[in-house]
Amino acid sequence: MSSSYLIALGSNRRHPIYGRPRDVLRAVMEELAALGTVSARAPIIDSAPMGPAQRQFANGAAVLDSEYDPPALLAGLKRMERAFGRRKGRRWGDRVLDLDIVLWSGGEWQSDELTIPHVDFRERDFVLSPAGAIAGDWRDPVSGLSVRQLAARI
Ligand code: ADP
Ligand code: MG
Repeated sequence: MSSSYLIALGSNRRHPIYGRPRDVLRAVMEELAALGTVSARAPIIDSAPMGPAQRQFANGAAVLDSEYDPPALLAGLKRMERAFGRRKGRRWGDRVLDLDIVLWSGGEWQSDELTIPHVDFRERDFVLSPAGAIAGDWRDPVSGLSVRQLAARI
């Protein structure tokens, strides 16, 4: 059975082939098709660096319909991060590619390495703003609020 996932994409480092962060994200949108069917893509936005990160980010969002369960999808996303040259580093730091699972059609998911909804997404404008463009009606099972409502609160 196929599930729907809302994926957040971020980049704030150049890639030697794909180039600027926003061009990295455009390439990743294509690559995501290896994990399912991309049924919606948000326009890519620029956002300010946060925490220890030094450079401006490009952020985006996509809806992915996939046969994978959440752990299998996370493994696929991590493989893609590595394929785009992401090195292990501190959380929040500069990275060529960050792929996070924000929501999925199955409600809540909790395991050692994976929490859905993503724990921080309700406070992140750079997630909610692209997500609102393609998944405004999706509901956060924890707060009961829609993505549109969460975006409007920030
Ligand atoms: P961040 O995205 O917060 O900057 P990382 O990308 O380094 O941090 O992710 C750290 C870990 O967070 C990942 O190895 C993954 O196992 C875990 N994680 C927990 N929930 C999620 C989620 N919903 N989506 C993606 N990763 C998650
Ligand atoms: Mg991440």
